[in-house]
Amino acid sequence: MLTGKTALVTGAGRGIGREIALTLAANGAAVIVNYNGSKASADEVVREIIKNGGQAEAMQCNVADFAASGEFVKAVLEKYKKVDILVNNAGVTRDNLIMRMSEEDYDAVLDTNLKGAFNMIRHLSRSFIKQRSGKIINIASVSGVLGNAGQANYSASKAGLIGLTKSVAREFASRGINVNAVAPGFIDTDMTRNMTEDAKKELSAMIPMGRMGSTKDIADMALFLASDRSNYITGQVLCVDGGMAI
Ligand code: NAP
Repeated sequence: MLTGKTALVTGAGRGIGREIALTLAANGAAVIVNYNGSKASADEVVREIIKNGGQAEAMQCNVADFAASGEFVKAVLEKYKKVDILVNNAGVTRDNLIMRMSEEDYDAVLDTNLKGAFNMIRHLSRSFIKQRSGKIINIASVSGVLGNAGQANYSASKAGLIGLTKSVAREFASRGINVNAVAPGFIDTDMTRNMTEDAKKELSAMIPMGRMGSTKDIADMALFLASDRSNYITGQVLCVDGGMAI
């Protein structure tokens, strides 16, 4: 499905990003497995892809850093010549009630979740426009659609990411580049594993399907958006959330 395509997945050493990297590679894409701190996990993802007959490489970059992202994109383009699929998946949480939220926790979440996606799209924009094709997939959250108590910083970053998605989709539509957002609901990863059992129960009660989602649920949507099957879809927010955002 994606043979001959190059995909860059940010934060692909763990969780949802890892599953997206494995899925795109299993469907023929050469995958750049970006990580920030988790080198060992990213190397393991690469090993698994290669073992399964795919093509992948781990590359470090803190996407929140504009200059470092520029150097990273430069290195990727020098080696791979083009990026066909960009998945902005890197994300962090620093939850707290707004009364207690520090400026540092607000900035850290916005810098990675929103500015990180801007940095990657900005640095790759010339290359995308030149090639007149491409798929940009931004991993937002149902929290950015509905809001969530205790996540003012995170919700703001994801709502911002949705706005970024829609604006860039309008700018790139005539160039054959699709830009969409995926809004996962409550997915079983490191990000949600630290929650208390009570908080998990409370959240599960808000899911019409009555269960948490898996990383595969999100990777399947990313594969669809990365493929030619989504060619007439742009600027959309696809909620993959068991019905949370109905
Ligand atoms: P996770 O298991 O905590 O993984 C987060 C990933 O982001 C890691 O691979 C991490 O890489 C990477 N990352 C963080 N800061 C980075 C930076 N500055 N530069 C590059 N990479 C960075 O989280 P997850 O659950 O898989 O979440 C993935 C995405 O889905 C996030 O955008 C998250 O907001 C979104 N999401 C998750 C859920 C959920 O329920 N799990 C729901 C909605 C949306 P390192 O380990 O290398 O630092």
